[in-house]
Amino acid sequence: SMGSPALLMRVVASAYSVAEKAATIVRNVMAAGDLGIVEKTGANDLQTKADRLVQMSICASLARKFPKVTIIGEEELSTDEVTEELIEDGHCEEILKKTCPAQYTGIKEEELVIWVDPLDGTKEYTEGLLDHVTVLIGIAYGGKAIAGVINQPYYNYEAGADAVLGRTIWGVLGIGAFGFQLTEAPAGKRIIITTRSHSSTLVNDCISALNPDSVIRVGGAGNKIIQLTEGKASAYVFASPGCKKWDTCAPEAILHAVGGKITDIHGNSFQYNKEVKHMNSAGVLATLRNYEYYASRIPNTVKQSLVP
Ligand code: AMP
Ligand code: MG
Ligand code: MG
Repeated sequence: SMGSPALLMRVVASAYSVAEKAATIVRNVMAAGDLGIVEKTGANDLQTKADRLVQMSICASLARKFPKVTIIGEEELSTDEVTEELIEDGHCEEILKKTCPAQYTGIKEEELVIWVDPLDGTKEYTEGLLDHVTVLIGIAYGGKAIAGVINQPYYNYEAGADAVLGRTIWGVLGIGAFGFQLTEAPAGKRIIITTRSHSSTLVNDCISALNPDSVIRVGGAGNKIIQLTEGKASAYVFASPGCKKWDTCAPEAILHAVGGKITDIHGNSFQYNKEVKHMNSAGVLATLRNYEYYASRIPNTVKQSLVP
């Protein structure tokens, strides 16, 4: 229609530009060399200056444009004043040109919840594993993840000076997902992708039970979902608490937009209404294809150890 674009499309278009600004902050903090690392619950749960600045940038920028939307970010910040230089006002025109799916055209600001992980893969960021890092902006309506933006600030960083550094992936249920090349994983191979820095006996026992051909251990929930959609792995398996709603919301929207599936280890879908518990206590199971194959092989002993 010729009317103004639907709210959902305006939010996604803004989130796209906000995520690009976030990526610039992530790169600038690393380049400046002072990460300002703070331990949250312990040595495997870190926050850096980039996590803090990016959360302020994303939340303040989106709140200014969409004041009635609920925005939930990972980091607990002191009520620092947000400086104007952190505000992003732009949007992606290409997204505004797409037609909003009919079931989402009537959405009001009060009905949206935005889950923000300003920097996913912080542990890896501090260790120089830069392409594990993503910025996640997930958009939920009616408790479901319906749209998302994932920025990978260091995509291509090992590809040489000629390669374009960084990329932004976005998706909406009913439209699809863009900014990457959808690729099938090798047929007939069980390639499991899982945590690098949050392993446990249960995490490893669950993977062994799936009899994998190979196991990829990398940081970040966003990074692992990207690898599923690009055919690098067949299943993301994490039989542990630790992952939160801001880790899964944007990745879920993008994976579901291209026909994949993500649930907890029992097969329960995640809920993203604003009242929901943040922790994904019963782990993560995600695939682009063959979800049932993996779900049916999760051992009962593993399921019994993970209470939703
Ligand atoms: P990983 O696959 O280990 O990078 O975890 C994916 C996301 O869940 C990251 O945001 C992690 O910080 C978070 N996460 C997973 N396990 C834990 C844990 N044991 N403690 C804190 N955060 C965790
Ligand atoms: Mg995270
Ligand atoms: Mg984070």
